[in-house]
Amino acid sequence: MALEKLAVVAFGGNALITDGQKGTIDDQEANAYAACETLLKLIKKGYNLVITHGNGPQVGNILLANTAGHKLYGLPDMPLDVSVAYSQGFIGYIIEQQLKNVLMANDMDRDIITIITQVLVNKDDPAFLNPTKPIGPYYSKEEAELITAENGSKFAEDPRGRGWRKVVASPKPRAISNRTTIEKIARGGQIVIAVGGGGIPTYYKEMNKLQGIDAVIDKDLASALLARQINADKLFILTDVPKVCIHYNTPQQQTIDRMNIATAKRYLDEGHFAEGSMAPKVRAAIEFTKNTGRDAIITKTTLLGVDDGGTRITIV
Ligand code: ADP
Ligand code: MG
Repeated sequence: MALEKLAVVAFGGNALITDGQKGTIDDQEANAYAACETLLKLIKKGYNLVITHGNGPQVGNILLANTAGHKLYGLPDMPLDVSVAYSQGFIGYIIEQQLKNVLMANDMDRDIITIITQVLVNKDDPAFLNPTKPIGPYYSKEEAELITAENGSKFAEDPRGRGWRKVVASPKPRAISNRTTIEKIARGGQIVIAVGGGGIPTYYKEMNKLQGIDAVIDKDLASALLARQINADKLFILTDVPKVCIHYNTPQQQTIDRMNIATAKRYLDEGHFAEGSMAPKVRAAIEFTKNTGRDAIITKTTLLGVDDGGTRITIV
């Protein structure tokens, strides 16, 4: 195996659809091109790459289309695991193509391979007792009750009053399928796109029987687990803020250049990082750093590979 360094780069949702955009395929292609351009710095520093990405808006649209198809044409429902697989396929295609275009524009060439990735969860994960992650379309209370009666789905009212939404569990990722192959391809110098949307949640229904399950895995936690399991040298979590802050959005706001995992845990406990946005990124960084001793970096996409860009999470 080559001795080059290996990095896992997690693209945030804004790498493909930014706030306020409709998210046409043209938008997603242009955004993907810009996001992939930021990878050049890492490639030039000698890193081999595995790219991971979110899928929130895309899988939301797939669920909407499923609902419409079911209502209008009686198409069979597509379960969430299959919808995640669907999103991994088309987002992977867009990133593959745009990254190829970026490489060609810079006189470089690599193969780029999307791996549809299953991620094992534990069916006894306490998250299944308390589904909290809202997904898909908004329903009226009556519609939601009908669906619950039909198939047992759980619903919760949107805090901003937009209606009722299905809630699913967000269990911890336990193991990444095909991780050995992902590592082999990436260390061989080709670029892999994997664990899109946090991966397709699967579990062992019985011994020797894998099965998809209605859940959503946090993409930052899944990226950290992948990075650990393929022995990556660095984990970069890319989003839309240059650095992690304490007292975020208050007059006392302070950016963090570097924090060790003890400090990061203390800030988490003190509630500096919002759940559903920055908190899972910091948890993912801690998870990677604690288990590998290596640094994780949280930053804005455009600051990838820039010296002193972002917040570095270190073991000590
Ligand atoms: P992504 O799609 O990249 O996962 P998220 O919206 O989930 O993006 O998370 C990034 C957001 O986290 C930022 O836009 C910022 O508003 C928010 N955020 C919450 N707490 C903090 C904090 N303490 N420091 C920096 N950003 C924070
Ligand atoms: Mg997010």
